[in-house]
Amino acid sequence: MLLEGKKALIFGVANDKSIAYGIAQQFKAHGARVAFSYVNEAIQKRVDPISEELGGEFTFQCDVSSDESVAQSAALVKEKWGDADILVHSVAFANRDDLKNRYIDTSRDGFHLALDVSSYSLVSLCHAYEPLLKPGSSVMAMTYLGSTKAITNYNVMGVAKAALEASVRYLAVDMGKKDIRVNALSAGPIKTLASSGISGFKSIFAHIEERAPLGRNVTTEDVGKSAVYLASDLASGVTGEVHFVDSGYNTTGI
Ligand code: NAD
Repeated sequence: MLLEGKKALIFGVANDKSIAYGIAQQFKAHGARVAFSYVNEAIQKRVDPISEELGGEFTFQCDVSSDESVAQSAALVKEKWGDADILVHSVAFANRDDLKNRYIDTSRDGFHLALDVSSYSLVSLCHAYEPLLKPGSSVMAMTYLGSTKAITNYNVMGVAKAALEASVRYLAVDMGKKDIRVNALSAGPIKTLASSGISGFKSIFAHIEERAPLGRNVTTEDVGKSAVYLASDLASGVTGEVHFVDSGYNTTGI
């Protein structure tokens, strides 16, 4: 099995529709050991049963907007596992008001919030977890095409994803010296809690079916399978990349 015995930390499961859920499912299917973070007690109530269902070894609190919380979570993981092989960042947040209407109306606070939770969080996690990650480890973050193209209502989240993808490249340089790879998976649109906050997102799905080379939307299973590749030794020479899992939509023009 591709991930036999590898220890994977999964940040960002909210429910069984989450991309992180699909990734954890595939990791387990390929022999990985998994542990799940939750941001607060409300999410813990959903994550604990999911962890049980997927054979997670433990769950732990981590609010990625707090360096203290991130450091505490790393200390707990160190106590439980000693080290780790895979870190999945599948976390994002922006104010609903900033995911509709005009980007030009984004407030300074809304901009900071989106960039902090959705982009800086990857830097913060890498900083805290680098000492735990073994040579050969793989870090991956979830991104979206809105980073490089203006997508209706994606607005400040597109800017946050651009910063996230740039961070992936800089972190890949820093952590490459320790043989830790850092990549992003750019998923096509999927119905989740986070995407339901983007105004009019539903109308995208029909468009993808019509235009994407594969003629269908992707699933969390599709993303999970590519995550297995990036996490495994099959991707030993791949870092700093944005890998699309979007039925080929990003490659098309008129
Ligand atoms: P989701 O709502 O299931 O997951 C988002 C997660 O972020 C939740 O578990 C939430 O608890 C967590 N989170 C929010 N604020 C946090 C904080 N301060 N600390 C810790 N965790 C926090 O939605 P999803 O669609 O699975 O999103 C996962 C990732 O995939 C996000 O980065 C999202 O931008 C990205 N993505 C989603 C799509 C899509 O269409 N759904 C497409 C491309 C990329």
